Amino acid sequence: MEKSVSGLVEKTEPVCLRCGTCCRNRITLAFIRANPSDLRRWHSQKRDDILRYFPYEPVSALTSLGPSKLLRRCPFLRRVKKDFYECTIHDTKPEICLGWYCQRSLSSDAVPGC
Ligand code: SF4
Ligand code: SF4
Repeated sequence: MEKSVSGLVEKTEPVCLRCGTCCRNRITLAFIRANPSDLRRWHSQKRDDILRYFPYEPVSALTSLGPSKLLRRCPFLRRVKKDFYECTIHDTKPEICLGWYCQRSLSSDAVPGC
């Protein structure tokens, strides 16, 4: 966070370190659901592979697969190097992922990882 001339604290933009932690967390993944906009985009892009994992429904498909089949990591996550990952569907990933930031990424000490 930074102080403005008026002395008020201004919120800075979150900085994702691309550590991949949130994309390798069962709980976080269970919250991912496609919205209607995601659905339209993936249908037009013929991305059935994404629809398979993130269909649009009230209950996450990841959860409905059953506890034994819950994903430990997102299938679209790729490890680039130690502690540094990339989303292989970044340009069309679920919109819910675009708005997700962890506490660490909101820290004023966060430094971009790329
Ligand atoms: S949002 Fe946080 S946990 Fe997720 S990749 Fe970025 S820094 Fe890591
Ligand atoms: S779609 Fe991308 S950003 Fe979303 S959980 Fe998977 S790897 Fe992470």
